[in-house]
Amino acid sequence: MDASSPSHDRPQQADLDRCVHCGLCLNSCPTYRELGLEMDSPRGRIYQMAQVANGAPLTESYIDHIELCLACRGCESACPSGVQYGRLVEAARADIENRYERGWPARMLRNFVFNILLPSPRALRTAGTFLLLYRGLGLQRLTRASGILKKLGRLGEAEALAPEAQFPFFYRYYGRTLAPEGERRYRVALLGGCIANISFARLHEATLRVLRKNGCEVTIPADQTCCGALHVHAGVREEARALAKRNIDALVEGGYDAIITNSSGCGSTLKEYHELFEHEPAWADKARRFSAQVKDVNEFLASIPLNPHLGELAVTATYQDSCHLCHGQKIRGAPRELLRAIPGLRFREMPLSEICCGSAGIYNVVHTEMAASLLDKKMDSVGTTGAEVIATANPGCMIQLAAGVKKRGTGQQVKHVVELLDEAYERYAPHHQR
Ligand code: SF4
Ligand code: SF4
Repeated sequence: MDASSPSHDRPQQADLDRCVHCGLCLNSCPTYRELGLEMDSPRGRIYQMAQVANGAPLTESYIDHIELCLACRGCESACPSGVQYGRLVEAARADIENRYERGWPARMLRNFVFNILLPSPRALRTAGTFLLLYRGLGLQRLTRASGILKKLGRLGEAEALAPEAQFPFFYRYYGRTLAPEGERRYRVALLGGCIANISFARLHEATLRVLRKNGCEVTIPADQTCCGALHVHAGVREEARALAKRNIDALVEGGYDAIITNSSGCGSTLKEYHELFEHEPAWADKARRFSAQVKDVNEFLASIPLNPHLGELAVTATYQDSCHLCHGQKIRGAPRELLRAIPGLRFREMPLSEICCGSAGIYNVVHTEMAASLLDKKMDSVGTTGAEVIATANPGCMIQLAAGVKKRGTGQQVKHVVELLDEAYERYAPHHQR
C-alpha cells in the first residue's frame, strides 16, 4: 500500500465538517433503504471518511462501504446542511485509487476501461464492431444457450447488461455543422460522449433533429472526447483531468450559445469540471467558463420557446428522474415540462421517481445484486402508473430500465425524453393539427 495521496484528491475537512449527523438523508439513500446499515448510509460513510482523513487506515471494509455507494447524490437533495456528498465520495474514491493496491485482474480491467477504451474512438469503434459481429453472427445466442455465461459469474452478468452497438456509429457526424430547420436562432455544440457514440447513435441523431427543429445550428466538434464522468466516479482523476482539458480546449472559445449533452451523468461532471482543478487555478477558471456553457438537452429546450409543431403521441408515460439530472444538476421540472408539451401524451408520476434505478454508471455491472434489487423496486414503482412508456434522461438509466422491462416481461418502451419529442415532431401533420 502506498501512503501518499495529494491533498486535493482526498475528502476536504471543511466538506466533512458540514455534516451535523442529523440523519435526515438516510431515507433518501438507496443502499441504506436496502440494507438498513448505518455504515452503508450517507451519514455512516461520511463518518468513515472523516476517520480516514484523521489517520485511520484504509481497510477493506471501508473500501467496500465507499464502493457500494451509488454516487447517486440522493442524500445531497435531502441534506439541510448543504453537504456536497458527491464531492466527498469522488474524493474518497480518488484517495482509494491512489493508495490502495488492487489485485492484478482488477488493475488490468480498470486500466483497459479507463485508459484505453473510453478515451479512444478507435478502441470504441473496434469494441462496437465486435459487439455487432457477436450479435449478428448468432454468437450471442449460442453463448447464452450454452450456459457458459452462468459459469463466468460477474462477467456473464455483465454480458447481459452490455449495450447494443448501433451502426452506423455517431462518430460519422464528428467535425460537421448542421444547419437549423428554418431561421437560425442559436449556435450550439453537441457532445457525443464515449460509449454513446456506439450504443446510442440513434438517440444522438434524434437529439440533432430536435435541436435543428428548434432553430439550432448544431456543431459536433471533432476534437471533443469522453467527458471523464466514469473516471471521476471511479476515482481515476488524472485521466479525467486529461480528458477535461481536451474538452475545455476544444470548446471553451467556440462562442456557442450552449454546449449540449443528452446524458445527465456526463452533464453533471461537465458542469463540475472546475472541481478537478482546485489545485490549478488557471485551469479552474477556464473550466468554470466551459461549465457555464454546458446545458442538459432538457434544460436547454425548456429554456427556449419550444417549436410547437408536435404531432400527437397517444401514450401513457412516466418519468424516472436520472440521479445526475435531479440530484446532481437540480433539474426536475424541465423534462416533465417537455413531456407535457407533447399532444396526447398522458403523464403519470411514479412513486419514488428520485430513487436510483441501480444503473449508476458501471455500478450495475460491478454490484449486480444491489443493482438488481433496486431495479426490482423501480419496476414495482413503474407498475403502479400503468405507463406504456418509461421516459428518462440518461443512457445508462435507459439500459438498466430496459433490462427491468425484459426481466419482468411487461413490455414498456424505454425512451429518452428527446426521443419522444423527436417522434412527436415526426408525426406533425400541419393540416389536422392545432
Ligand atoms: S449528510 Fe446532511 S442530512 Fe445526512 S447526516 Fe449529514 S448533515 Fe444530516
Ligand atoms: S450517493 Fe446515493 S447511495 Fe451514496 S450515500 Fe448518498 S444516497 Fe446513498
